Amino acid sequence: NGLKKYFPITGGLFGRKQGEVKAVDDVSFYVKKGETLGIVGESGCGKSTTGRLLMRLIEASEGKVVFEDKEITSMSKAELRKIRRDIQMVFQDPYASLNPRHSIEQILEEPLIVHGIGTKEERKKQVREMLEVVGLSSYHAKRYPHQFSGGQRQRIGIAKALMTKPKLIIADEPVSALDVSIQAQVLNLMKDIQKEFQLTYIFIAHDLGVVRHISDRVGVMYLGRLIELADSEELYENSYHPYTKALLSAVPIPDPDIEKKTILIEGEIPSPANPPAGCAFHTRCSHVMDICKTTRPAEQDINGHFVACHLYNK
Ligand code: SF4
Ligand code: MG
Repeated sequence: NGLKKYFPITGGLFGRKQGEVKAVDDVSFYVKKGETLGIVGESGCGKSTTGRLLMRLIEASEGKVVFEDKEITSMSKAELRKIRRDIQMVFQDPYASLNPRHSIEQILEEPLIVHGIGTKEERKKQVREMLEVVGLSSYHAKRYPHQFSGGQRQRIGIAKALMTKPKLIIADEPVSALDVSIQAQVLNLMKDIQKEFQLTYIFIAHDLGVVRHISDRVGVMYLGRLIELADSEELYENSYHPYTKALLSAVPIPDPDIEKKTILIEGEIPSPANPPAGCAFHTRCSHVMDICKTTRPAEQDINGHFVACHLYNK
């Protein structure tokens, strides 16, 4: 609710603060139990920062994060440690998040040790079971991360996230680094385990195509702001925001009979250190009006479809 993350820009001889990057600038949304919320945007739009703010891997400058009636943003360190059993993250690059000197068994056992779960024997058993869940075998337990392919490493990353039996998984571009053929396998695995473990997902991606089939609702971010959020089907069939429309026009359709006109977005994405006034998209929008240059558009709720654009002011 009202999440903000401003990073100071320092420079000069004395490292004085010279400005700030508004990486996340007043973002609000909810996620329902058991659903998948996709969050999409170009690199630098603040989607990863938002994901990290949610579980307080970084601290918010302002705003609140509430999980099952508990306010994460005001928790003590001890409470936070406990809640991290329930909320886990899967990262884009599993290689960076898996200790290369630890065997898969050690890697998967670690979250259980951290949270004081089970006896040594129970933990070993759970590691072996989890390897099967993600489509690997218990004979992989003694191997090391470098002995696996990218897709297998992401399966290990997912297994690690599942070890504490979390309720919510925040996946930050979990398939972006993988070959397209492998992406579908990992997405299917994530869908299967969502059902099996009754998980809630926040699925971050830079590509609307990737989140389409896994998300119940999708939000689109631009320069630190959430500019549109709707049910998945609604967003793909009937988007409102000019930026979303342009992004969607660039997603390839597999049917060669459907012709689609790509809407080009003019110009470069502005620097988040110096975002345009008013609507952050106004420097690139073909529908720009005077008000767009001065006034930040308020979020409008059109039958549960949220959009922040002056074209839809009530
Ligand atoms: Fe375009 Fe104005 Fe809407 Fe921004 S508010 S997307 S500039 S029409
Ligand atoms: Mg990112």
